Amino acid sequence: MAASSTWHDADNVRQPSGDVHAWWPGTNQTVCGTPLSRARLDRFPHVLWADAVWTEGTAEPGTPITALCRRCGAATRPRRTGASHGRRSARRT
Ligand SMILES: [Zn+2]
Repeated sequence: MAASSTWHDADNVRQPSGDVHAWWPGTNQTVCGTPLSRARLDRFPHVLWADAVWTEGTAEPGTPITALCRRCGAATRPRRTGASHGRRSARRT
C-alpha cells in the first residue's frame, strides 16, 4: 500500500498514515489510479491493505489517523463468489 505520511509503531516498523491507498509492488500508481510520484505517496510493501483496514477499525490511542481511500477500498473488496446465495440442501429422503 501507499500513504502520504509515515509513522513508526511500538516495534519501530514504518507504518502508513494520512491519505492511504492500496498499492501493489511493481506498479507506479495506486489501485485507484493515483500516480505515486505526483501524489508524493510513500510505498509500504510490507503493509497489506487489509491490515490498514483492520488498524483503522481498532485504532489504539496514539495511533495516527489514517484516511483510507474509498475508491481503493471498493476496488480491493473481496468479491462474493455466490456460494451463500440462497442455496438450500434439498435432501428429501
Ligand atoms: Zn486510492
